[in-house]
Amino acid sequence: MQNVDYIIRADYLLTMEGDLSVIKDGAVAVTGSDIIDAGIFADISKKYTSQKLLSGKNKVVFPGLINTHTHAAMVYFRGLADDLPLMEWLQNHIWPAEGKWMNEDFVNDAVELACLEMLKAGVTTYTDMYFFQDTAGKKLEKLGMRGVLGAGVIDFAFTGYAKSVDDYFINAENLITAWKASEFVFPCIAPHATYTCGTDNYKRANALSEKYKVPIHTHLAETQFEVAECQRRYGKTPVEYLENIGLLSERLSAAHCVWLTDKEIELLAMKKVGVAHCIESNLKLASGFAPVAKMLKEGVKVAFGTDGAASNNDLSILGEMSTAAKVHKAVSGDPTVLDSKTALLMATRNGAEILGLGDKIGSIKPGKKADLIIANLEQPHLMPLYDIYSHITYCLRPSDIETVMVNGKIVVENGKPSTMDEAEIMDKARIWQEKIKSS
Ligand SMILES: [Zn+2]
Repeated sequence: MQNVDYIIRADYLLTMEGDLSVIKDGAVAVTGSDIIDAGIFADISKKYTSQKLLSGKNKVVFPGLINTHTHAAMVYFRGLADDLPLMEWLQNHIWPAEGKWMNEDFVNDAVELACLEMLKAGVTTYTDMYFFQDTAGKKLEKLGMRGVLGAGVIDFAFTGYAKSVDDYFINAENLITAWKASEFVFPCIAPHATYTCGTDNYKRANALSEKYKVPIHTHLAETQFEVAECQRRYGKTPVEYLENIGLLSERLSAAHCVWLTDKEIELLAMKKVGVAHCIESNLKLASGFAPVAKMLKEGVKVAFGTDGAASNNDLSILGEMSTAAKVHKAVSGDPTVLDSKTALLMATRNGAEILGLGDKIGSIKPGKKADLIIANLEQPHLMPLYDIYSHITYCLRPSDIETVMVNGKIVVENGKPSTMDEAEIMDKARIWQEKIKSS
């Protein structure tokens, strides 16, 4: 018998490996940061003992959810300006608010609120595009949550962060060299979009990504405005333009990808570009419907992102799964599209793979890191239960998530964070709310 740190037992275990079959009365053995074994409890209990047995009736265990596109610090702009088109929302509300408030202190406090919201909702890893990512990185190490932190790049200076465009690259390179050995922080470079970043900056960002073998993340083909603007500037669509300047590769994950031709979908599949599908943000900003069913059919790796809380307005991947699974059925006129198994696969293994972390996280498999969730199924909205995948995609709520483990450590226990002071985070948010409101 081998002694392990934890044995986690549940009525239903979804490893998201192999044929995705459900393991009834399953268990996971965890030691240190690693998953040692997973299978039926009868087998696990013959091989391992542990002082810490996490178990209970009517529970489900599945891998931590992955949010492949957000701007975490924007939680402080949640609900600040709603019901507007993207460019008006950005130019008249979000960019002025960021210009006034966004600094290191803001990011430090706001990221903590975003992490609290995400961890309690079962999100164990997120991809970010923002500024002051070194500050966010220190927060993640302290909280024990994973982030692919994209150092933002735009064509104009940003007071307090980048006095000139060169500073974006200096900040990005410093981030990469500071965090390349971290278990929690995965540095990334994030040119904003084709309408805010010129060719030189895209090429410089790509060269840095290539030099250090780190991911590159951008917004792509989000709106019709973006496509028209790209056509006007370069005579090409955003996807054609990025292909032309050598950006499309396995290292690239692109948020949105709403306005794509069939040829562009084939190109994204061929170049192994990952897509972060942000359905709720696309719906709220009336950006359009990404051709997710076609992308999946053509072999494009698609995962879920929430985008920032100012355009969603929450950071729940369970919400994205449920919305996407329904909307794409209606849009395609085909109720078999984006079934519940596919939705959970996109939220876990696909997410890990498009971030280049597929060998570490995204499924419950011996040798991978122990990032997992225990949810309580003893809820009226989860009764009766015929298909666990269906319940996770269509019915499970963030409040049903009881325990969250990241890297073998429990970060949420009985719905309460164990590495954060929730009351203090809420108080700080109220202080910022009063400041931002009075401006
Ligand atoms: Zn975004």
